[in-house]
Amino acid sequence: MSSSIQRFARKTRGFEARVAHAEALLREAAEDHGGRIVQANSLGVEGMVLTDMIARLQLPVAVATLDTGKLHAETLALIPAIRARYGIEVEVFRPQAEQVVHFVGRHGDDAMFRSLELRKACCALRKLEPMQRLLAGRSAWVTGLRREHSETRRHVPFYALEDDGREKFYPIADWTEADVWEYVKRHDVPYNALHDQWYPSIGCAPCTRAVSAGEDPRAGRWWWEQGAAKECGLHLRPEVASA
Ligand code: SF4
Repeated sequence: MSSSIQRFARKTRGFEARVAHAEALLREAAEDHGGRIVQANSLGVEGMVLTDMIARLQLPVAVATLDTGKLHAETLALIPAIRARYGIEVEVFRPQAEQVVHFVGRHGDDAMFRSLELRKACCALRKLEPMQRLLAGRSAWVTGLRREHSETRRHVPFYALEDDGREKFYPIADWTEADVWEYVKRHDVPYNALHDQWYPSIGCAPCTRAVSAGEDPRAGRWWWEQGAAKECGLHLRPEVASA
């Protein structure tokens, strides 16, 4: 089986400029928010690229993730891999155990497949609530969303001021898939083994499947749902002011 690097890594025109822009944006964000900025790393390849940049540039940006209790072993394996490679202790935020027990007891372990409301309720307790704790006390956060990911992400800016006054940075918003894997190749970035099994976008195990050649990169997320519903709510806030 070919690796994602073999499949996608390619140096295209403007690659160095896009990397330099992402690095400059990260540096500036770290300077402006020293000690109060966090990278929300979902442990997909984009998150790993940003963690690599933070480590390589020695920026004072914390690295955190959400462990929903439903992640693949391949995803969880990146937490010790980040520690081993970069010496960074990833902050891990988990859902409230009582809420999970209550929800699963009432609706079952497969509730997400039965209605959009139950799927969103599962995302709310396993992702949105822990995300609030991940962001508490931070004045800014960094995410690896890219415009290429999907139609709903086509206008992702480099920077947004959220309603609560927190700043959000998207350093690789304009990167292509070829850019991401070219960066991984050049810097030997550890990445999620599921990517090599045709999982371009990786979320919780029950809600993620592999895609076929030519399918939208996010087609494997909540594959039984249609269109704009296919987000968990972590990135749905109004986004303004691109830099
Ligand atoms: S992605 Fe699926 S398992 Fe994960 S929190 Fe959302 S509904 Fe639950």
